[in-house]
Amino acid sequence: KEGLNKTRENLTRRVGELLAGSSRLDDDFFDELEEILLTADVGARTSMELVERLRREVRDRKITDPAAVGSLLQEEVARMLGEEVPRLVWAPEPPTVILVVGVNGAGKTTTIGKLACRFAREGKRVILAAADTFRAAAGEQLAVWAERAGAGLIRHQAGADPAAVVYDAIQSARNRRADVVLVDTAGRLQTKTNLMEELKKIRRVMERELPGAPHEVLLVLDATTGQNALSQARLFSEAVGVTGIALTKLDGTAKGGVILGIAAEMGIPVKLVGLGEGPDDLKEFQPRDFAAALFS
Ligand code: GDP
Repeated sequence: KEGLNKTRENLTRRVGELLAGSSRLDDDFFDELEEILLTADVGARTSMELVERLRREVRDRKITDPAAVGSLLQEEVARMLGEEVPRLVWAPEPPTVILVVGVNGAGKTTTIGKLACRFAREGKRVILAAADTFRAAAGEQLAVWAERAGAGLIRHQAGADPAAVVYDAIQSARNRRADVVLVDTAGRLQTKTNLMEELKKIRRVMERELPGAPHEVLLVLDATTGQNALSQARLFSEAVGVTGIALTKLDGTAKGGVILGIAAEMGIPVKLVGLGEGPDDLKEFQPRDFAAALFS
């Protein structure tokens, strides 16, 4: 995967050097490997766990050649990420409601725009709901994407109740027989409690107006923030119950290893990855390909 270049440069090159430059699989070797994983933002706990598993495999299989550890590492990473390609959940009957959360700048609006373009291309009727009524710019940016995708847009005046926007969007989706509603939300982190209360209220309105909704709660995380992404995942997960992660800006970072930490420590599947700013730069996350891309 081209978008992973920086993570690969860091991780692949350094792991490769370690494997080639070591003559024995001793403690120094495993310590160095753990260090490399840490610099790729795999996270302390996950790095340790991964190295422990490798030690065990090496011992059990009586492996002595450092060069053989590369494929073992790839296997373990693939296992950690899960075998299946995680898919977005669709409602048995339309509309499907996708609640999108995350801190400002993570890439929520862009991710929604990319999804809207994709769904529209598949012939689906899409409605975008501008439930970040706090920042006028967010609503404007969403309007641009709605236009681009040919999607409907529900937007109220600045400062309006975000839950009212969501209410309208669901009514509108029913009336227009829309297939999917994508809800953009606020992400001001300075006032955490208010934001979490706001998101909970949005969720309650969805549940009340449409049984089964939200069908998906996507948390958008910026990969370049590395370990911060993990603490954000915890925060949002506790407040609104995240069902999937969209990890953005993987194209510009050496910290792609954070995917591993999220998958291993949070148990929340990474469903989408952002590899650029254009409408086509959002891909389904493929665990096997990712593991192979990192260590080949
Ligand atoms: P929001 O505040 O969470 O809605 O974030 P935005 O959608 O406004 O995105 C913030 C910035 O990140 C914008 O300049 C986007 O173009 C950029 N961005 C979003 N996703 C990606 C991505 O996958 N790769 C890159 N390189 N930039 C991205």
